[in-house]
Amino acid sequence: MLELLHKIVQQVNSAPDLKSALRIIVNQVKLAVQVDVCSVYLTDHERAVNTLEATDGLNDNAAGKVAIPLEKGLVGLVCRQAEPLNLDDAPTHPDYIFARETGEQAFHGFLGVPIIQNRTVLGVLVVRQSEPRRFKDAEVSFLFTLAAQLAGAIVTANANGELEALRNQSSATTHYLRGRPGAGGVALGNILVAYPEADLSVVPDRPAEHPDFEEDSLLVAVEAVKEDLGNLKDRLADSLPAEDRALFDALILMLGSDALVNHTIQRIRDGNWAAGALRQTIEEHAKIFDEMDDVVLRERASDVRDLGRRILTYLNQDIARVVQYPERTILVGEDVSAMQLAEIPPQRLAGIVSATGSSSSHVAILARALGVPAVMGVNTLPVGRLDGRDIIIDGYRGRVYISPARSVWKEYSRLQRQEQQLSSELDTLRDTPSETLDKVAVTLNLNTGLVAEMTTLGKEVADGVGLYRTELPFMVRDRFPSETEQMENYRGALQTFHPRPVTLRTLDIGGDKPLSYFPVTESNPFLGWRGIRISLDHPEIFSTQLRAMLRASEGLANLRVMFPMISGVAEVEESLKLLERAYQTLEGEGLSITWPEVGVMIEVPSAVYQTWEIARRVDFISVGTNDLTQYLLAVDRNNAKVGDLYNDLHPALLKALVQVMEGADRCGREVSICGEMAGNPLAIPLLLGMGVRNFSMSSTSLLRVKWVVRSVTSTRCKHLLQAALRCEEVESVQRLMGEELEKLGLGGLLRPGK
Ligand code: PEP
Ligand code: MG
Repeated sequence: MLELLHKIVQQVNSAPDLKSALRIIVNQVKLAVQVDVCSVYLTDHERAVNTLEATDGLNDNAAGKVAIPLEKGLVGLVCRQAEPLNLDDAPTHPDYIFARETGEQAFHGFLGVPIIQNRTVLGVLVVRQSEPRRFKDAEVSFLFTLAAQLAGAIVTANANGELEALRNQSSATTHYLRGRPGAGGVALGNILVAYPEADLSVVPDRPAEHPDFEEDSLLVAVEAVKEDLGNLKDRLADSLPAEDRALFDALILMLGSDALVNHTIQRIRDGNWAAGALRQTIEEHAKIFDEMDDVVLRERASDVRDLGRRILTYLNQDIARVVQYPERTILVGEDVSAMQLAEIPPQRLAGIVSATGSSSSHVAILARALGVPAVMGVNTLPVGRLDGRDIIIDGYRGRVYISPARSVWKEYSRLQRQEQQLSSELDTLRDTPSETLDKVAVTLNLNTGLVAEMTTLGKEVADGVGLYRTELPFMVRDRFPSETEQMENYRGALQTFHPRPVTLRTLDIGGDKPLSYFPVTESNPFLGWRGIRISLDHPEIFSTQLRAMLRASEGLANLRVMFPMISGVAEVEESLKLLERAYQTLEGEGLSITWPEVGVMIEVPSAVYQTWEIARRVDFISVGTNDLTQYLLAVDRNNAKVGDLYNDLHPALLKALVQVMEGADRCGREVSICGEMAGNPLAIPLLLGMGVRNFSMSSTSLLRVKWVVRSVTSTRCKHLLQAALRCEEVESVQRLMGEELEKLGLGGLLRPGK
């Protein structure tokens, strides 16, 4: 059964559109379960109907025509209850209705299972038998398992099919793909697909500018791979038996075969670039093996894909290839990385769309830092087929319009103009004090460090740097940066802001911030070796960084040092000890450095409950709400599947923050908020209500937050906090704050336009 399941899912996954996918399902399931009929109904929640989309066994003409209201019939019942229904004599069931067009009156045995994704019923898979038949448990669970796996394929095939339809129609769409808000703002532009260089399956189709050049590159790459394989085979001559080495001959033969090279060349001549043409050919060949019944032959599919990857690596090394960046580039990818982002000329980068990730992924944080709208977790994105298309992204609502209709383009252009107006209005706040209506002063600091994000605005408006993420110099090299390289980097920041304070956070790698030259393989990276844990386990790396920070501050005296991912007092004490030792060594070397203020990030739940014990050992506390939300709610900040659960207005998080404030207050330490929550307009009044007077955020949030601060009184904020703490659900907090901001005339901060 498992074999069969695997085969059906594979075939469905590679179907070009929804129609073919459904046809495969009904044909294959009818055979597998040995029934008279298999049908798929798709659920249209807007029209409240289930439509028969494909059938093998019922009247073929009925497909696409029979639409049953959601509240009616057995199919409706399966859909409403989101549970399977197994009946040996369907016509006797009270919900049974007779649909003449399908000719189904002759069938008695009935089994319907819902097709569900993200709690939404997408459709119903139904099998029927002329005679009364009660389906066995194993048959029910077969359909059940199949339906669960089909949901994703149906969504993808649907998205692909829609795109295909677009290609053939001049009337473009008002339909949008849903994701999660990543960074506010709207952007109109053209898609550039970003893909990991070693992954052939996500290489996009792209027009070949110079087909001859593409053809030559392919042939050179193929020859290089042939040579590599020959060398590999020779090298393994002593350690591998001849029959195993024969695999290399088979692969070399495959490379020389007309099919592989010529088909790719044909595709180049038809207009695709070499990498895109290669992807298509390799997939075509691999699929033939995928579909074979023999397990050994099926394995060959991965050999074919491996060949494809090897050829791609050589194609990528072809330095003559120059990427053309559209005027307004919207970077779209399966899993857009910070590095891919950094490669785009900043003046051309207009927006970001990622099929994975959520609002607190580092790419989304970067997008906010760069002032570029972003939509994350658009899991229905047919990435490979999007290069060069027109696109609109709405970073407030998490919407993506691909090849949008002119009316949508016009509407969003209008909203974009309003956004620009709002920005100019915000600009008038630059030189105004950051204080509430009742004159409570609030410090607004900058989060920086990831890329060249020290914008003029940030430099001019911020009271200092509240979080300098020091990971970047580590991420862009192929080795640990030297003490002097680090020192120069930090000194740049300290000098730029002098005499304003600059908070340098010690290295916070691990989790979703890997270093290529320091691989950490863990099944649970966010609960594993990251942040201060790595630093303390590698005192040589940690001390070098601390020395670099201290040296950078010589003569400036505006350094603050902050430790990330602290989960208990022992880590604070050990870190302080290493800092003291580094300080003394430098003094011994004759340097005259002012002892820095030292702080700890509260971003692990254990630290929330030990705020007082931690805070009294240091000078300040800064709450990393991105990780704290992740750990408190047990929601991976990068996982789009649970993205809806990730929300920094959750009442539990508010309660945790109140606890932190109380702990820090007991020993008179200041608390700042440096997670993305500090830039969330809905959260600002609540944080003010708790007594937070120090916020650190990306430069694009500075004036927005100032606008909120200047529009409220501290008394009102206290009342709002009390009301929010009485809320039992995040939606209620969101509603409470949304209404408040609208009342204050600050709605433009929450949606497109003014
Ligand atoms: C946080 O966790 O809130 C934080 C500021 O750190 P980072 O986002 O770099 O993990
Ligand atoms: Mg963090």
